[in-house]
Amino acid sequence: MKRYYFDHSATTRVNARAIEAMTRVMESNFGNPSSVHAFGRDARVVLEEYRETIASLLNADAGEVFFTSGGTEADNLALIGVMQANRSRGRHLITSAYEHHAILDAAEYLGKNGFEISYIKPDRYGQIQLDDVVRAIRPDTQLISVMHVNNEVGTINDIGAIGKLAQERDILFHTDAVQSFSKIPIDVKAMNIDLLSLSGHKIYGPKGNGAIYIRKGVNIERRQFGGHQEREIRTGTENLPGIAGLTMAAQICHQEMDSEAERLLYLREKLWNGLNDSLADIQLNGHPEERLHGLCNVSFGGVEGEALMLSMDLKGIAASTGSACSSGQTSASHVLLSMGIPPEMAQSSIRFSLGKETDDEAVDYVLEIVPEIVNNLRKMSF
Ligand SMILES: *Cc1c(COP(=O)(O)O)cnc(C)c1O
Repeated sequence: MKRYYFDHSATTRVNARAIEAMTRVMESNFGNPSSVHAFGRDARVVLEEYRETIASLLNADAGEVFFTSGGTEADNLALIGVMQANRSRGRHLITSAYEHHAILDAAEYLGKNGFEISYIKPDRYGQIQLDDVVRAIRPDTQLISVMHVNNEVGTINDIGAIGKLAQERDILFHTDAVQSFSKIPIDVKAMNIDLLSLSGHKIYGPKGNGAIYIRKGVNIERRQFGGHQEREIRTGTENLPGIAGLTMAAQICHQEMDSEAERLLYLREKLWNGLNDSLADIQLNGHPEERLHGLCNVSFGGVEGEALMLSMDLKGIAASTGSACSSGQTSASHVLLSMGIPPEMAQSSIRFSLGKETDDEAVDYVLEIVPEIVNNLRKMSF
């Protein structure tokens, strides 16, 4: 049976050229970048080239990019590192209720350790409203962390506006850009971003690789101890092959950004319109326009999302309910609930995330199979 992958927001297939770049580094640049001899120096040169490249894609300086083990580590470092370093100035953190668990769980940890957290709810389209951010600000607010693109519904936040607001009030601003980096333009200077998290495996790079941008001058405390790597912000011998793969993948995505956006937008609209034409009582979750081109989160009224997902899997369609991290749990997605979507509709949702694996044939197959499954499941529940 042919399989169709509609879960690009969970992870992606590694780009062949990224694999090549990784192999090349493992073969020709196996030196430890911290070693002083020629092998080490060669490895150091390529490491710094990769750093330059990632920095240029963000409009940052190379010295502001630190490689990590992925988005989760970057998010943890941003929140805990900044709050700890600035705790004498204030203990208040603002974030949103529908962040990835890498943020929410780090915030929860801070909450148990003497910090105070305000969680802003998005509107019904999954967008964070500027007024709500303003209302949450207190004299002791140190950091605002709001994600750029939500991973479940794809809604895009106006992080430039939030960054400006934070800067005017002398508050630091972090954004989890794991779902937006290399897919839509980011300029940390123009958007007034102080810290930003990104990850490799959502953009056709290897898993276990990512980076954090930390604007020069930001006061942050490290979370990890050991050697002097990454200017002691993130110690441990650098994963040079992974960094090579991440960088190559990001470069390719940037080169293809416009054409891929256009292609996916067409496929996404075809998918939604097709489903909407053939099924009653379905609902699109997320912003109708300000939404990442690859994302289509749909609630199928009267159908258990988990049952639908498993039935689709049997037919060779891979999509997800809620976020990948919450699979196996039967509770409705915290993202959809925070948007005010009723629990029964939230439990009936499927996230189709489109990407390089997606073509017309894949969408046609979904449009042929999914309405059939939904109708069968609806019959069974009566
Ligand atoms: C996947 C994801 C993360 C975690 O990144 P990893 O590299 O898997 O640790 C964080 N935030 C968002 C929005 C994500 O989609």
